Amino acid sequence: MKYLIIGAGPAGLTFANRLLDKGMEDFLILEAEREAGGLCRSADVAGAPLDISGGHFIDVRRPKVNEFLFRFMGEDELNSYERITKIRTKDNRIGYPYEANIWQLSVDEQVEHLKAIAAAGCNNGVPEPDSFLDWIPWKLGTKIAEDYMLPYNEKIFSTDLSTLGTYWMNKLPNVSFEDTLRACLMKKPYGTLPGHARFYYPKKYGSGELWLRMAERLKGHIEYGVPVSELDMQSGTVNGTYRADIIINTAPWTAFDRIDGASEEFLRAVPALKHSSIVVKYLPDVEDNEVNWEYFPDRSLDYHRILYRNTFAEGSAGAWAEINLKRYKKSEGDTAFVTNYAYPLNTIDKPRNISLILDEAKRHNIYGLGRWGEWEHYNSDVVVELALDLADKIDK
Ligand SMILES: Cc1cc2nc3c(=O)[nH]c(=O)nc-3n(C[C@H](O)[C@H](O)[C@H](O)COP(=O)(O)OP(=O)(O)OC[C@H]3O[C@@H](n4cnc5c(N)ncnc54)[C@H](O)[C@@H]3O)c2cc1C
Repeated sequence: MKYLIIGAGPAGLTFANRLLDKGMEDFLILEAEREAGGLCRSADVAGAPLDISGGHFIDVRRPKVNEFLFRFMGEDELNSYERITKIRTKDNRIGYPYEANIWQLSVDEQVEHLKAIAAAGCNNGVPEPDSFLDWIPWKLGTKIAEDYMLPYNEKIFSTDLSTLGTYWMNKLPNVSFEDTLRACLMKKPYGTLPGHARFYYPKKYGSGELWLRMAERLKGHIEYGVPVSELDMQSGTVNGTYRADIIINTAPWTAFDRIDGASEEFLRAVPALKHSSIVVKYLPDVEDNEVNWEYFPDRSLDYHRILYRNTFAEGSAGAWAEINLKRYKKSEGDTAFVTNYAYPLNTIDKPRNISLILDEAKRHNIYGLGRWGEWEHYNSDVVVELALDLADKIDK
C-alpha cells in the first residue's frame, strides 16, 4: 500500500482523515487496541464518562484545528468552561499557577516566598543548571520548589528528577521579585494565564467520542487488535506482512520488539527514550462545587491530580484521581484504568536521541508523528495540527 499508519490515536486518525479529504484511499491503520482514540479514550463509569488515561479537555485556540474537529463534533455539542483549578499543599489551597497566586497565602508564607524569590539563582546572575532538579530552585526560588514544583514533579513522573533536562521548561518566565511583591501588596494574581484558560468538554459524552467519530469515517481502513511488534526499516515492512511506501509511526518507538535495518546508533537511541505510566481511579464520593481539577504536591498522597467530573461532565457525580503507576497501591473494589504510555520523559539526552531516530527513519520514508512518534508532551490539538501539516506536505 501507499501509506501504513501505526496507531489510531488523534495523530493517526487525523493523518488518515486528511488523506481521505484528498481522495487518497490507499492506506491502512494498524491499531493495537480494540478501539480508536489512544490516550483520549473514555469509558462509562457509574452512568457518566470517565477519561481512562486522565482528564482530556479540548483546547480550541487553533482555527485550522477547530475547523477540522468541528466537522466531527459541532460546537453545539460541546460545553465551554472557564478553567478553575487549584493547588492543594499540606496547609493551603491556592489558585493555579502557584507563582501567580502567592498573595493568597498567609502573610508569613508570602514573606518566606518573597525572600526565596529574591535569592533565586536566575535573579542573581548564577549560571543556569543542566538538570531539572537544580534548575527549579534556580528559576523559581527554593520555597516554590520545595512546597510545590519538586514534590509535584516527583509524583507525576516518579523518576529521578536529576535525569530530566530543562529545555522543556524554558518558556517559563522568571518569577520577578518586584512583580510578586506588587501582586502580594495588591492582593491579585500576576503573570500569564495557563493553557486551557477556557476549555471544551462534550455535553453528552466523554472526550473519546470525538475520536470514535473520526474513526467511523475510516471504516475498512483500520485493523484493530494488531500491535506492531516488528519494523523493517529497509523494506518498509511491518510485522513481516504489511508493506508500504510510506510509514507513519504514531506508536512509541520503544513498543516494537524488533527493528531491522537500522544503524547501531539508532538501536541505542530507542531504549534510551523513557516514559511514565498512569492509573486513573474513580472516586465515587469525591466532589467539588466549583473547582474543575486540583493538583496535589503532598508526598503522603499517592495521587497528583483529582478531576471533579461533576463540574464538567453533565449529569455526572464523583471524581477521578490520577496516580503514577509506581505509586499506586490497588485496593479491593477499585475501579481503575492503567495506561502504560502516558508521559514521554524529558530526559537530558532525549533531544539528541529523538532527532537521531526521526532523521534516520525519515531517510527510509518512515515518519514519527504525535506524542510518541516525536516523544513530546503534545496535547491533542497540537497533534492534530502536526498531522494535518504532515499529510499536506507528503501527499501532494
Ligand atoms: C494525563 C494526561 C492528560 C492529558 N490531558 C490532555 C488535555 O486535557 N487536552 C489535550 O488536548 N491533550 C491532553 N493530553 C495529551 C493527549 O493525550 C495527546 O496529545 C494525544 O493522545 C496524542 O495523540 P497521539 O495519536 O499522538 O498518541 P496516542 O493517543 O497515544 O495514540 C497512539 C496510538 O497508538 C497505538 N499503539 C501503541 N503502540 C502500538 C503498536 N505497537 N502497534 C499499533 N498501535 C499501537 C495506541 O493504542 C494508540 O491508539 C493528556 C495526556 C495525558 C497522559
